[in-house]
Amino acid sequence: MRSEWTAISDDLGPEKVILLREPRIGLEGILVVDNTAAGPAIGGIRMALDITVDEVARLARAMTFKNAAAGLRHGGGKAGIVGDPTMLPHEKERLVRAFGVAIRDIVDYIPGPDMGIDEACMAALYDEIGRVVGLPRALGGIPLDTLGATAFGLAIAAEVADEFGVVDLAGSRVVVQGFGAVGAHAARFLVERGAIVVAVSDSRGGMADPSGLDIEKLLLWKSAGNPVSEFAGGTAIAHEALIGYPCDIWIPAARPDVFTAANAATVAARLILPGANIPATADAERIFHERGVLMIPDFIANAGGVICGAVEYAGGNATHAFATIEERVRDNTREVLKRWQRSGDLPSVVAIDMAGERVREAMTYRRSF
Ligand code: NAD
Repeated sequence: MRSEWTAISDDLGPEKVILLREPRIGLEGILVVDNTAAGPAIGGIRMALDITVDEVARLARAMTFKNAAAGLRHGGGKAGIVGDPTMLPHEKERLVRAFGVAIRDIVDYIPGPDMGIDEACMAALYDEIGRVVGLPRALGGIPLDTLGATAFGLAIAAEVADEFGVVDLAGSRVVVQGFGAVGAHAARFLVERGAIVVAVSDSRGGMADPSGLDIEKLLLWKSAGNPVSEFAGGTAIAHEALIGYPCDIWIPAARPDVFTAANAATVAARLILPGANIPATADAERIFHERGVLMIPDFIANAGGVICGAVEYAGGNATHAFATIEERVRDNTREVLKRWQRSGDLPSVVAIDMAGERVREAMTYRRSF
């Protein structure tokens, strides 16, 4: 492959970069199967108007590392459908079904949901190709966002950080950006472990109380469709005020690149637990490292969702999924923190080394002629 074809082309992948078009339906899509040494690739489909091959290739590589680090019998891949994610459901279903027809024969890719793609889309795709993760319960799916699978993994990573002396979870003050499927459950799981949540936000603004928000009441308030900034039990704060809010643990659970060179020095937390992928720029990550702020690598801390998907695909249930998340996230976070303490390297560097070793070992078992 010519190296300029995608942002990433090296000894690990990608194995396939496919552009998909069905002009009669208006489908334009991208599929990148990065690496299948450990098994068929699992990775989400993202719907966005500005999706590019490079973006999908980077996300596919992140899935290779995430799945390898989690010890799954799956490689990494990712797909993109060009479209407005707010389109009407029947229009979305048409595009998703057309996408399914286009990837039917690419059997080393198992699609899952990502931004703009929900359970109903996955059910339509299952109807077309019979191999997906993230199905509705009626089709044997494990409703990972309702149960908080990814957030549960974050809480386990926090327990390990406590074990390594980074924070004292009991009494820790927590900030959560993005009170959605990941953020709201993370708040709940951390409160169960003795932490107090001092500030949260959603797309409309933030809410804070230095003595701790009542998370149970806030969950009810939010699940009724209300913005956190109108919750009665605290003081409304602006989005920007969340970054430097006094706390011990900061959870980005909304969008990428929240921390930059311009704001990383103002973060008061000692531990960053990424629910969102790529929450910090490379510069911000270096600043954290120099300041002794531990940011657990995103693909280690937020692997709960894909672990749940893999258990679903193998026919397991929610109990099995949570036990697997607990075991894998705990072991991997321990291993990364051990290597980090030993080497003094950035946590993301040691985590990529660890995942890369696992992918390369899996590759030695493949036919090479
Ligand atoms: P979600 O849509 O359920 O929740 C996102 C929340 O963020 C919403 O409450 C939204 O109002 C809020 N938000 C949006 N923009 C914001 C902003 N600028 N400031 C503050 N809040 C803002 O999504 P989710 O499933 O919870 O995913 C959150 C992030 O975690 C995403 O980046 C996603 O890619 C990543 N992630 C999710 C999973 C999973 O299992 N759901 C797994 C791995 C990674």
